[in-house]
Parts: sequence; C-alpha cells; structure tokens
Amino acid sequence: ICVSKSVFDFFYFVQQWPGSYCDTKRSCCYPITGKPASNFSIHGLWPNYNNGSWPSDCNPKHPFNQSQISDLVSRAQTSWPSLGCPSSNNIKFWKHEWSKHGTCSESVGLDQHAYFQHTLDLKDQIDLLQILQDAGIKPDGSFYNVSSIEEAIEKGSGYFPGIRCNFDASRNSQLLEIYLCVDKSATRFIDCPILPHSNCPSQVEFPTFGADSGILQL
Ligand code: 5GP
Ligand code: 5GP
Ligand code: 5GP
Repeated sequence: ICVSKSVFDFFYFVQQWPGSYCDTKRSCCYPITGKPASNFSIHGLWPNYNNGSWPSDCNPKHPFNQSQISDLVSRAQTSWPSLGCPSSNNIKFWKHEWSKHGTCSESVGLDQHAYFQHTLDLKDQIDLLQILQDAGIKPDGSFYNVSSIEEAIEKGSGYFPGIRCNFDASRNSQLLEIYLCVDKSATRFIDCPILPHSNCPSQVEFPTFGADSGILQL
C-alpha cells in the first residue's frame, strides 16, 4: 500500500536581505561569480500546508541536475546568489533548495526546470526594494517599525508579508527575510493562508549591504 501525504496547499516565496545575512557574527562569503547586488535575493520557494507544517526532501530519486537549468543559470546567479561559506558558484545552494523543497513540488506537476523558472519569474513580479524605498524605507542602517514595513509591502504589492529577523554583530534585530505566498501553480501571488511566526521586535534595523550605500560616498 502506498500511503502518501496529500498535496501541499501553497508556497512561501522567501527573499533575503544580503546585508542582514552578512553582518552577523558568522559573517558570509560572496559567491565566486561576484558580489551580489544590493537588493533582495531569493532564498527559496517552499511548499507548505495551511496548518503551518511542511513537507521536505520528498524525492531522493530526483537529485539536482545542473544541465536541466543551463538556460536559467545566468538569471539565477543574479537573483538567487548564495552567501554561504566557503565561496561557491551558487550551485550547492540551489541543489539544497531543490532537494529539500523543490522535490516536494513535483506533486503539483513542477519538474526541476519549471520550479526554477517560476521561482525566478516570481522575483521579477514584485520589486520589494523599490516598494520599500518608495515608502521611505531604505537600507541605510537605520531602524524602522516592522508595521510600517508590512504596510508598505501590503500597499505596494497587494499582499501582506511575513517578516523574519536575525541579529547583527552588536545584537540589533534586523530585517532578514520577507515571505510572500504563492498558489500551487507557482505563478500567482495570494494572501497568505498562514504567516510564519515573526521573530522580530517592533523596530528593526535595515542594514546596508557592503559599503555601497551612501555613507562612504563623502
Ligand atoms: P529556520 O529554522 O532557520 O527558521 O529554518 C530552517 C529551514 O527550514 C529554512 O531555511 C527552510 O528550509 C525550512 N523552513 C523554515 N520555516 C519554514 C516554513 O514555514 N515552511 C517551509 N516550507 N520551510 C520552512
Ligand atoms: P521548531 O522548533 O521551530 O518548530 O522547529 C525546529 C526545526 O524543525 C525547524 O527549523 C525546521 O527545520 C523543523 N521543522 C519544524 N516544523 C517542521 C515541519 O512541519 N516540517 C519539516 N520538514 N520540518 C519542520
Ligand atoms: P535552509 O535554511 O533553506 O534549509 O538551508 C539553507 C542552506 O543553504 C544552509 O545550509 C545554508 O548554510 C546554505 N546557504 C548557502 N547560501 C545561503 C544563502 O545565501 N542564504 C541562506 N539562507 N542559506 C544559504
């Protein structure tokens, strides 16, 4: 008998702020493809159930196959860079995301190419950095109300986001990840059925990424 868990309900489309990934005590490593842009980048597209749990590592028989996304590599290098150490060509990160989350998307008919293509297309649909900047929320190292970040994204995109934080080296809480929800086709944003637990205090830092954000341009 095959007892398989039912199909998941929606995706989290998760983006990370590289400045917050990198300014921690652990630091980070730029990929060998070069320093990523000062912009949000993709963490992943994660199948999820409406009750908040999620499937993972669904199909060890379909490991990541780089040749299936050769036409997408240059877009992925820009939008889905890896800041993990040691420096890499990003493939290890994509491989991890595919095995852990992507293989669970096969239950809604997405193969590896479709999974990566849809994820990259989602990044281009909503420009989070522009939306925040239009609301006066800039990666300048100052502190912002989480509620004003949430409101700006809701106004600018039409969707209320989930926000996750981490700590910089001085233990300030800062904006690390923004979650938006996507339907099972992996093409349409939806209102989140359930938001991830926020671990942010009411005010969070929005750090610069590298030294490219004004303060050194005296
Ligand atoms: P953390 O413990 O840092 O919150 O999450 C570790 C990893 O677990 C994430 O990078 C992601 O792969 C997975 N994960 C965490 N929260 C969620 C979630 O709400 N949904 C899904 N699908 N995966 C999650
Ligand atoms: P927590 O204590 O935050 O509930 O979970 C600790 C870790 O267990 C998370 O970082 C995540 O990696 C894993 N985890 C929690 N809930 C789930 C789930 O529903 N599915 C899977 N695959 N992992 C989970
Ligand atoms: P997740 O938290 O999605 O389960 O796992 C992410 C894995 O990819 C971790 O082992 C982490 O070290 C590695 N990784 C490599 N580059 C990055 C990156 O830029 N961001 C994040 N969140 N993880 C990365």
